[in-house]
Amino acid sequence: MSGTAIITGGAEGIGWACARTLAAAGYRLALLDLDGAKAAARAEVLGPGHLGLACDVTDEAGVTATLARVAALGPVTALVNNAGIGDANLPTLDQSGAHFRKLVEVNLTGAFLVAREAARAMTGGGAMVNMASIAALTGLARRNGYGAAKAGIVALTRSLACEWAGQGIRVNAVAPGYVRTELVAKLIADGLLDPGTIERRCPMGRLIEPAEIASAVAFLLSPAASAITGATLSVDAGWMAFGAAGE
Ligand code: NAD
Repeated sequence: MSGTAIITGGAEGIGWACARTLAAAGYRLALLDLDGAKAAARAEVLGPGHLGLACDVTDEAGVTATLARVAALGPVTALVNNAGIGDANLPTLDQSGAHFRKLVEVNLTGAFLVAREAARAMTGGGAMVNMASIAALTGLARRNGYGAAKAGIVALTRSLACEWAGQGIRVNAVAPGYVRTELVAKLIADGLLDPGTIERRCPMGRLIEPAEIASAVAFLLSPAASAITGATLSVDAGWMAFGAAGE
């Protein structure tokens, strides 16, 4: 692999796992995160040449300026459009419009803004992976804004794949099930997710490791996936394959 890979939300969880996998594959990394200090510290751990920058994916001017700064260092060849926030899992009748808008703003509008600026920087072609979720593909109660935003990611992925195929940019999505990250640990700690549900509902009966998402991302970015674009790959320990208990 060569060139620069941009990872949004690269300081934590799935983004950080992608960073380690892609650095090992030979990319120079630009980790963009709301927490710029953490992103910079993570880049230092990866070694010389890697970059960690503060960037809020919802800030259009900030995204444009940050991506231009990264592009000035050399050709951008890969994007992991991963930054996102989880839901408060409130019953819909208790949920504000502001909360719904925030979920869409970070999880969907942010991904659009970063993809647009990354495409400008992929002057020699490239590949993108947008982070969706099983919440985009199946019904989960009390995930209205999150699920809608992630379903938007699936549609955005297809649209960009069709538009940019001619300029050598492939665009795919990964839809993780429940992954062992801070986001999920907090849901469990707050009593908003029963870990027993994962055991009962998911055929493999376990959380997914962040590195297992990262290897799917690395595959979709690599030449091994050269004919794959517009696809959403579930990495969910069988969640979407499940029929009913006992079957
Ligand atoms: P995480 O909370 O562990 O890490 C998310 C990172 O994104 C953090 O470093 C955070 O600072 C950053 N971030 C948040 N808002 C941002 C913004 N506006 N601009 C820039 N950076 C921002 O989360 P995670 O579990 O690693 O999730 C990563 C992605 O995977 C998200 O899009 C999430 O929706 C998706 N996902 C996660 C799971 C899961 O089980 N953890 C399942 C399905 C999908």
